[in-house]
Amino acid sequence: MTTGPNYAFFQGKIVPIEEAKVSVMTHAFNYGTGVFGGLRAYWNEEEEQLYIFRPLDHFRRVLNSAKMLLMELPYTAEDMLGILRDLLRKENYRGVDVYIRPLAYKSSEGIGVRLHDLECDFTMFALPFGSYIPNEEGSRVTFSSWARIDDNMIPARGKIVGAYANSAFIKTDAALAGYDEALVLDQSGHISEGSAENFFMVRDGVVYTPPITSNILEGITRRTVIHLLREEMGMEVVERVIDRTEVYIADEAFFCGTGVQIVAIAEVDHRPVGTGQMGPVVRRLRELYFDLVRGKLLRYREWNVPVYEAH
Ligand code: PMP
Repeated sequence: MTTGPNYAFFQGKIVPIEEAKVSVMTHAFNYGTGVFGGLRAYWNEEEEQLYIFRPLDHFRRVLNSAKMLLMELPYTAEDMLGILRDLLRKENYRGVDVYIRPLAYKSSEGIGVRLHDLECDFTMFALPFGSYIPNEEGSRVTFSSWARIDDNMIPARGKIVGAYANSAFIKTDAALAGYDEALVLDQSGHISEGSAENFFMVRDGVVYTPPITSNILEGITRRTVIHLLREEMGMEVVERVIDRTEVYIADEAFFCGTGVQIVAIAEVDHRPVGTGQMGPVVRRLRELYFDLVRGKLLRYREWNVPVYEAH
């Protein structure tokens, strides 16, 4: 079995993971002033190749999040991709799928909550990773009693470390109550997303998802899924505000994200979604998605970045 991580990119170079440590006085540790990303790389058995999925899109989002927190990083998205390829080659992951965590953070040590006049740094590590939610083909979901953070509180479109306390409240309440996941409403009572994944539903042959103004993270999987639904499955996809009870009467519903991938929602607040079984749209979408991320849909090869030299 492959284990890891054995290395991290830390303070400008790749070091053994044991050496990638920060002080208890680090600003980001005290005040949540970091931003992060979450990518996956998938092993393609036939080609003996590890393909990173849409890395430049992920790194551009990290940089946008960093911009919100007044961080000036000395790296471009392309630089980050170079660092990631070096890191994955050093780890030499083969035969496994991998999760990658880039993190930019206020690295100054000391007391004083603010964003300005602070140093920042960039780190990254990668570990072997399988599924994230246990019941991928039929998750049981509830609506959280917590509300999603609003753009004027902590912007959800920035992947900000401190903001994930909100996600942690949402996830843990759902898990301790026996659910697989929770949906969370925004301040106006409309559906935002899951604790760490975007939401879609199907009604009468049309696919709906909350707009980027519903306090969601602007998901890269969301963007990918919208493309697959429209271009590969010929479906109409509408981004609009969604009411809670629309899910109760939806034909199908699902979550998507880098971590969760595509997860069918079988039940919400004790009501079966559609038949209560994974429906045809989600089934087909999952097939397409897993082929895509593994680099098996050759027409999308620009989204699959290889780690190793081809042979
Ligand atoms: N929403 C939240 C709150 C998330 O943390 C994530 C995971 N990054 C997503 C949605 C899905 O985003 P992506 O598809 O870019 O991974």
